[in-house]
Amino acid sequence: MSKIVVLGAGISGHVAASHLRRKLSKEHEVIVVSPNSNYQWIPSNIWVGVGRMKSKSILFPLKPLYKKKQIGYVQAKAVVFYPEGDVNEEKPYVLAEYVMGEEKKGQREKITYDYLINATGPKLNFEATEGLIPGKNKTYSVCTYTHANHAWKGLNALIQEMKQGKKAKILIGTGHAKATCQGAAFEYILNVEKELCRHKVRDKAEITWISNEYKLGDFGMDGMLLKYGSMTMKSNELVEMIFEDRDIKWILGAGVTKIEDGIAHYENLEGEFKTESYDFAMLIPSFSGHGFKAYDKKEDDITEKLFKGFMIVDADYTSRPYEDWSVQDWPETYQNPSYKNIFAPGIAFAPPHSISMPRKSKNGTAIFPAPPRTGMPSGITAKVVADNIIDSIKNKKELLHHKGSMGNMGAACIASAGFGLISGSGISITTYPIVPDYNKYPKTQGRKLGKTFGEIGLASHWLKLALHYAFIYKAKMKPLWWLIPE
Ligand SMILES: Cc1cc2nc3c(=O)[nH]c(=O)nc-3n(C[C@H](O)[C@H](O)[C@H](O)COP(=O)(O)OP(=O)(O)OC[C@H]3O[C@@H](n4cnc5c(N)ncnc54)[C@H](O)[C@@H]3O)c2cc1C
Repeated sequence: MSKIVVLGAGISGHVAASHLRRKLSKEHEVIVVSPNSNYQWIPSNIWVGVGRMKSKSILFPLKPLYKKKQIGYVQAKAVVFYPEGDVNEEKPYVLAEYVMGEEKKGQREKITYDYLINATGPKLNFEATEGLIPGKNKTYSVCTYTHANHAWKGLNALIQEMKQGKKAKILIGTGHAKATCQGAAFEYILNVEKELCRHKVRDKAEITWISNEYKLGDFGMDGMLLKYGSMTMKSNELVEMIFEDRDIKWILGAGVTKIEDGIAHYENLEGEFKTESYDFAMLIPSFSGHGFKAYDKKEDDITEKLFKGFMIVDADYTSRPYEDWSVQDWPETYQNPSYKNIFAPGIAFAPPHSISMPRKSKNGTAIFPAPPRTGMPSGITAKVVADNIIDSIKNKKELLHHKGSMGNMGAACIASAGFGLISGSGISITTYPIVPDYNKYPKTQGRKLGKTFGEIGLASHWLKLALHYAFIYKAKMKPLWWLIPE
């Protein structure tokens, strides 16, 4: 009998737990440890943040589902890793701290395992930028459903003021020099712009994109050359066209350093220190690891064997100049090299390096996007990990036949550009591979043209909406859920 503990019930953790439970007989235990009692379909937070969806439509409680499917559930957060056990406990374990319940809250418990999947995603590191606090200083976030609810409240209040004649400045983008998730901010800016039109206050607002990208449409993926209809286009040209069309201004190469009430301070690549004022801002924070500690059997600190910010996996972390980076540096099995029964899919693994070219300001400040890891690779890598664990358990020996690197997997990103069954619109950008492979595709900026393409229109909005329902259906593990791809 094996016990598999999954930390986190986001896209990655939930996908891993679902596949493990479906394919392993009930003599094997699958336990999920996660602090939030709900599953949330994060991509639809964009629509919550413009008031077009209620947060209850994007979430459901985990406990009843896990009970029905015989997946163990502990509503707690992992805090310390003991991959060798300790002097009293033979088996490896994680120390988890309960986050709910009058009696249990704050208590810590050893949760032993045979296999551990760390799918804890990112820490939303708002503290890395002074004054960047969701719901304060007129800045908001849409990274969680509670944040997105706040954002809609803030935006709606401003819309009401604009209806009374107020002129407003709206700032959307990244809130840190090394932030990622430009795609989510891009979706939000387009949705906000559309909502202002719908509320007939577009003429009252100046909308500005602020980002650590060197060029528009970098998205933390070094931009891309893509097929757009019969044309071949650079992603910066596509985004520029969209922003021009919607009268959205942009500030690029900006590392936001500090937020005051209605003022964003930033340094740009020219080394200038500037400010931008606003009445409403949605700025994505930097993402970091959760700051977990790890100890060996003798209680010696071995954190550096497991973590490098995020969790260390089978990537090549040798430090090299940008020109020497290779697609082969990226991990394939997400297995920790020191402790072979620990895996980290989704955002929880430490990337070997950024995908965008690293750039510094004239003052030496690093200003460029960290690598994004969107929903599709998070799901695929979780399935890779689950399948390898299943094979290893069934064959009673380590088998790592399932592999999936971001250098040989694509990502479809459908950015909603406005909600509405008839008036909605979306921008689909499909990239293959996510990490550019300059050896295979030397003439097309490391990507396969045709499999890397962009599309704009109402159909993309429908597709995004269809995916919302499909992925919530899948996450609820309804009949034949596993036929829906990650
Ligand atoms: C607003 C927004 C829009 C997005 N839109 C898209 C999109 O359109 N398409 C797309 O492909 N991607 C999109 N993404 C990215 C996508 O949401 C992420 O790639 C994905 O959620 C990552 O999955 P994950 O499981 O690694 O992390 P998460 O989904 O963040 O899950 C992490 C889990 O770990 C839990 N956890 C945290 N700390 C602990 C702890 N100490 N112990 C145990 N559990 C813990 C959390 O509660 C959570 O359940 C978007 C992201 C945002 C923020």
